[in-house]
Amino acid sequence: MLKFKATNTVFAIVLLALLLYDRNEGLPFWIYIALILIYFLFLAYGSAVLSAQFFLPVKCKGEGQSNTIAITFDDGPIQGNTETILEILKSYNVAAAFFCIGNRVMENPSLTKRIHEAGHLVGNHSYWHKATFDLQSASKIAKELSDTDEAISKVIGLKPNFFRPPYGVTNPMVAKAVRMGGYKTIGWSVRSFDTVIKDGTVLLNRITKSLKGGDVILLHDYSNTTLAILPALLDHITKLGLKIVRVDALLNEKAYV
Ligand SMILES: [Zn+2]
Repeated sequence: MLKFKATNTVFAIVLLALLLYDRNEGLPFWIYIALILIYFLFLAYGSAVLSAQFFLPVKCKGEGQSNTIAITFDDGPIQGNTETILEILKSYNVAAAFFCIGNRVMENPSLTKRIHEAGHLVGNHSYWHKATFDLQSASKIAKELSDTDEAISKVIGLKPNFFRPPYGVTNPMVAKAVRMGGYKTIGWSVRSFDTVIKDGTVLLNRITKSLKGGDVILLHDYSNTTLAILPALLDHITKLGLKIVRVDALLNEKAYV
């Protein structure tokens, strides 16, 4: 919340200065409209750009020089797709992280268990992943997160320490819910856009064009393009001399409470 608080303080000081000047010298009204617009632009940027850490601390990449990177899959588990991903990861002997949606864990307990038993990390990615997730009150968001924890721990016997916000959107309510649950918020440094890119070559180029040690790659279970390029991506990472580790090892944080 540091950047949010600092922004509020700066804008409050500017507003006060304008009001004082206005009282003595007079100011056109549009100055205030412009100030409000600029304020909301700051907030919009802070909400949409997770790595800005505007409302809460977020870990997006490994610190320091290293030759290790992490791969993460969001929005599963999904019958068929997640199984294919698990097969590919197994054939490459690679461990990844799966940020799972609570209701999908409830629908696919054995698949969730399979993710965990294969040595992959299971993280919290909300219970419903609705577009209105971040518009709820902090207590409703906190409840959604604890429901997801419960669904996951019922299956794997461990409570997630990692939370990844749906759509990467944060605000003061999400930040408060994260503090209430004591989660570590996990972002990414390489956004694949595999939810919209349908061309495998374009997707592979986008992910690999500036890949370096410390990166955290964001992928999605439901992207058939990701499924198609995953072996080529893993081959490319090996060729670059990079080693894939779980995101908890990369960030040096505990995956579970
Ligand atoms: Zn998601």
